[in-house]
Amino acid sequence: AIPYFSVIVVPSTSVGRRVAEEHKGEVVVVGLGPGADKWTTPEVVEELARATDIVGYSTYVNRVAERAGQRSIATKEAFTNAMALDMAKRGRRVAVVSSGDPGVFAMAAAVLEVADDPQWREVPVRIVPGMTAAQAVASRVGAPLGHDFGMVSLSDRLKPWDQVEKRIRALAGADMAFAVYNPASKERRWQVAALRDIVLEYQSPDTPVIVARAVGSDQESVAVTTLAEFDPEVVDMRTMVIVGASTTASYEGPNGVRVFTSRRYGE
Ligand code: SAH
Repeated sequence: AIPYFSVIVVPSTSVGRRVAEEHKGEVVVVGLGPGADKWTTPEVVEELARATDIVGYSTYVNRVAERAGQRSIATKEAFTNAMALDMAKRGRRVAVVSSGDPGVFAMAAAVLEVADDPQWREVPVRIVPGMTAAQAVASRVGAPLGHDFGMVSLSDRLKPWDQVEKRIRALAGADMAFAVYNPASKERRWQVAALRDIVLEYQSPDTPVIVARAVGSDQESVAVTTLAEFDPEVVDMRTMVIVGASTTASYEGPNGVRVFTSRRYGE
């Protein structure tokens, strides 16, 4: 009898959907994970199935399989959030999609910022977590973020470079490994070299650096290098850089190079 049990569960999901549709709408901000479907959590898959509308940047909206009766709307950021909240106010269940985790350099904070406006204050907003790129990248080489670590976005599109530089100095000065999101784009080219030069003021030239591109996709590439040998030119917007600390070590294992940041200090 056990196999039939799951068959009984299926219709109850569609009942749940009908009930939800009759209720007030809501905005659910979900993260699809970094690049591979297997890294999208079952919870996010469920939310996507239940949504009446999928909203977000086209790259992310395109990662969501089309469903009958569901609308897909690809938009630009500023506009997306107000539109999603407006749709929810009118009873829609809107899933706003990001890559990775929605709370890490993505849509969740932006939605919550807009949602504080009096006209949206009655609209429920939920944030559903996802795996962030730093976790996926770190796992490919071992555990470079195995102890205290930071995450920083190198984009000076939303914050002045002064701030970025201050934070890099704080992280390197505190001897913490850190993951670098948004390191470069086609137009934004000098920041990665600046990052390397700043870190070299604090850390030794043989500090491990991980350069990982499109992890989880079929274009994945991952390389382990050092601060001295790190070539900023190879970095693009699909790349993440992880900079080690003085406690980050690497060695050759039977299946490739391994990098880890020790959880121990001294003896
Ligand atoms: N919310 C996302 C991050 C968005 S910022 C998350 O939590 O992962 C976009 C940046 O994330 C990219 O510029 C890149 O630095 C990094 N990134 C996202 N997916 C990646 C992947 N599959 N491989 C390597 N880096 C990735």
